[in-house]
Amino acid sequence: MDTATAIIVVLGAFGFGAFLWTLAEYLLHRFAMHHLHGKGIMSREHLEHHVHSSWHFDRTHLMSWAGMLTVGFLGWMPLGWLVGGPRVGIAVAVGWACGYFFYEYQHAVAHLRAPTGPYGAWVRRHHFHHHFGHPMANHGVTIPLWDKLFGTLERPETVRVPRRLALPWMLDDDGAVKPELADSYALVGRAGIDERQAKIDRARAFASLAPLD
Ligand SMILES: [Zn+2]
Ligand SMILES: [Zn+2]
Repeated sequence: MDTATAIIVVLGAFGFGAFLWTLAEYLLHRFAMHHLHGKGIMSREHLEHHVHSSWHFDRTHLMSWAGMLTVGFLGWMPLGWLVGGPRVGIAVAVGWACGYFFYEYQHAVAHLRAPTGPYGAWVRRHHFHHHFGHPMANHGVTIPLWDKLFGTLERPETVRVPRRLALPWMLDDDGAVKPELADSYALVGRAGIDERQAKIDRARAFASLAPLD
């Protein structure tokens, strides 16, 4: 194999690994997190994330990172190695890991910061419709392909956002949606949260139902 071909093969294997991650991102989110309704740590942690719709780093992220790197380097790498040799094996695993960390990064910043470009704006609209509009739609976070293929893609005109769960970056100092985001997000309901509302939010998140107004 000449050098140019070898580079193309390695890049192709890397791309395949990243693409494989996007399918896992969709399937894990839909089936291992939402369909299990809190059975198992992965589902429980994810539905807990839906209860408050906030993001903060904790040790369960380290467990996920370790788990996904294990799948990449002890699962996909030997398989790729068998099919195309060591370079292909390593490139598939690295592609998988890069796809996974790209997802982790995009998901975290979607919750933490306002978008800075069209892709970030799309990620947020797509993902916050999943949180606030229909938790059984838009399971992909980084790309819409698998939602489109599996019939779970939804693109509402404006994303409804219960006021008590609004992300800080959406709001101005008066608690209204920032003017530049007003075409994308509409606040509903009251801002405060009491014990009864908190219980309802938790029950609905664990049933993969949208939070009420
Ligand atoms: Zn989220
Ligand atoms: Zn979810």
